[in-house]
Amino acid sequence: MAEQINNLTFAIIKPDAVRAGHTGKIIDRIIGGGFRIRALKMIQQSRAQAEGFYDVHRSKPFFAGLTEFMSSAPCVVMVLEKDGAVRAWRDLMGATDPAKADEGTIRKEFGASVGENATHGSDSDENAAIEIGYFFNRLEIV
Ligand code: ATP
Ligand code: MG
Repeated sequence: MAEQINNLTFAIIKPDAVRAGHTGKIIDRIIGGGFRIRALKMIQQSRAQAEGFYDVHRSKPFFAGLTEFMSSAPCVVMVLEKDGAVRAWRDLMGATDPAKADEGTIRKEFGASVGENATHGSDSDENAAIEIGYFFNRLEIV
């Protein structure tokens, strides 16, 4: 992307949270947290798309379960804007394992387990740019 992206991150409302009817509540938390939603769509990933997205975890023992889960049902993918967006969104999500997440975080409230933990967030500006480009073309970011 030509745009400076240190104020953008990529987010997913994962299949567990969509299935449980938490999409609206999570979007409300995002807006309440001061993020501007620059792009949003509901998709269902193929297994191959989920494997490509989580390629860095290919060697991990949870890779098969993770990609099966992420392709099992629809999810919501988003581009979020805020100063320091990557850090800010990870702070609002909370720890990967909902049992270890702080009170008031999205994963604490909506996550069921370390695998089914309600949301995804990019872990660096560089990965945010890659992940945004994986799901959105430039015209879809408004
Ligand atoms: P995400 O990348 O989804 O935002 P994260 O950066 O907090 O989460 P990662 O280490 O990147 O955590 O792991 C990616 C995803 O893989 C986690 O969100 C979770 O769904 C799954 N995962 C990670 N560790 C485990 C595990 N030990 N067992 C099962 N699933 C796991
Ligand atoms: Mg990660």
